[in-house]
Amino acid sequence: MQIELQDLNMTYPNGKQALQHLNLALKAPSLIGLLGPNGAGKSTLMKLLVAALMPTGGAILVDGQPLAKTEHMLKSKLGYLPQDFGLFDELTVAQFLDYMAALKGLHDSKKTIQEVIRAVNLEEKAKAKIRTLSGGQRQRVGIAQALLGNPPFLIFDEPTVGLDPEERIHFRNLFSRTAQDRLVLLSTHIIEDVQSVCNQIVVIDHGKVLFTGTPEKLIQTAVGHVGAFWERDAKQEQGLHITARVNTSQGIRCRAVADRLPTYAKVEEPSLEDAYLYLISREAAQ
Ligand code: ADP
Repeated sequence: MQIELQDLNMTYPNGKQALQHLNLALKAPSLIGLLGPNGAGKSTLMKLLVAALMPTGGAILVDGQPLAKTEHMLKSKLGYLPQDFGLFDELTVAQFLDYMAALKGLHDSKKTIQEVIRAVNLEEKAKAKIRTLSGGQRQRVGIAQALLGNPPFLIFDEPTVGLDPEERIHFRNLFSRTAQDRLVLLSTHIIEDVQSVCNQIVVIDHGKVLFTGTPEKLIQTAVGHVGAFWERDAKQEQGLHITARVNTSQGIRCRAVADRLPTYAKVEEPSLEDAYLYLISREAAQ
């Protein structure tokens, strides 16, 4: 499965230009992390990909065919977890999934439901009412419904928001397992979500693609632009984008990204987060 975005534009009726001239190729099998600060345009892009919104310019091609023609086919191949996914509180997990399976037109749904419940590790909650579940468990139900019917294309919009660190790790493992033979697009503003699991990263900000490539390639863009220094006075921070401030027994150690590091900064190996913040800070400075 391959999705191509060609010069994609989205301007909302109020004039807000949420996406500008986006060109991207997404190809299975892949786990693609879509990163960007709040308001970058991630949700808008996902809504366009699931044909919940129509672009105001450009085209989306699914396996070479325009989305307008393939919308029905795409929807049958798609599992989607939107950001504000509503669950029916009074249904049990199994009842809810049965309802979603019926909406998706799945036959013999009993086995399918058991499989997705197992995939998200919710076997012991299958008969529990949704209103009794924790935030993480509810998210798992959302992911389970996306997995129904084994779709080859999965879109998760900010799936780990509000989860505790342990639950996040569980989800990351689940995503990498599900992406082995499909196209999974994961939108997030949490770098750790994509750090270890995504083989491709797309960074967008202000509706534009700032980067597309492997995590290693993103890290390479920040080599020589990450430095650490001891905090002395506010002046020394001018022109720097401080990414961390750590209290130590010898004072406050600062970590910063900058186009040109000051001489007092010790050059450090960039992390993925440094590289992402460097990219975003450069965009903001322009
Ligand atoms: P993200 O998911 O990265 O936080 P969004 O795609 O939700 O970003 O939003 C991108 C931009 O479009 C933001 O400036 C947002 O305020 C704006 N926007 C989103 N939805 C609408 C809408 N329905 N009408 C007008 N503007 C919108």
